[in-house]
Amino acid sequence: MQLSLTLARSPLESVRDALLCEFGAQRPVARMDPISQLVKSSISGRTPDAVSWAAFLRLRAAFKCWEDLAQASDAQVLEIIHDVTHAHDKARRLPMALRMIQARIGWLSLSHLRALPVDTARHELQSLPGVGVKVAACVLNFSDLAMRALVVDTHVHRVARRIGLVSSGDTTQAYHALMGMAPEAWTADDLFELHWLMKRGLGQMLCPHEGPRCGACPLKHDCAKIGVGHSADVLAWRPRGVD
Ligand code: SF4
Repeated sequence: MQLSLTLARSPLESVRDALLCEFGAQRPVARMDPISQLVKSSISGRTPDAVSWAAFLRLRAAFKCWEDLAQASDAQVLEIIHDVTHAHDKARRLPMALRMIQARIGWLSLSHLRALPVDTARHELQSLPGVGVKVAACVLNFSDLAMRALVVDTHVHRVARRIGLVSSGDTTQAYHALMGMAPEAWTADDLFELHWLMKRGLGQMLCPHEGPRCGACPLKHDCAKIGVGHSADVLAWRPRGVD
């Protein structure tokens, strides 16, 4: 990567600082309990936030508690979350994951994860049906567990590759690479903020899948622009509203 760094300074700190100047601080305003977060994150993959939030609220309205969702049939769940991406798979796996937690713990709770090392907690979550590294990190970081795990979704992964923070590889490799760069002193809130800055700020506003606007980007002088080609600079000079 080409980011200009001071000695012993993590590349992530340079990225975070530049994005903070551009988009401002973003601290979590509310955290759900870990089971609610697991339900929300399990139905969110490759689905617009507005659609997955609406499906989550319908689930909450349909079942008086998550224990009832655990006992629901695939068809019942599918009817409620029909508009999320890969709805059939999610409707089958989500109740299964909840029942698996009940079988392991004795009741439906993930509070015990709080006492575990982050990687141990993450592995336990990833052994549940439909839970990969992203969903596990969401549960650990976004919920009131508030643990140190960076949520690497498609946006974070894409911009990390373009900047040159990670090489080509899957989301799990990107998670480990980025977590390896996160300063020890960074808290769960700091990692929440980094996710927000890389996803909502950089990934969705300036560096989307198609047509990154490098000319307007605070990282433009340091980013490796891997895979971006010349189109970025051309697009950067388009008048506002044209892209
Ligand atoms: S918009 Fe351009 S300069 Fe900014 S992160 Fe994306 S590829 Fe890099």
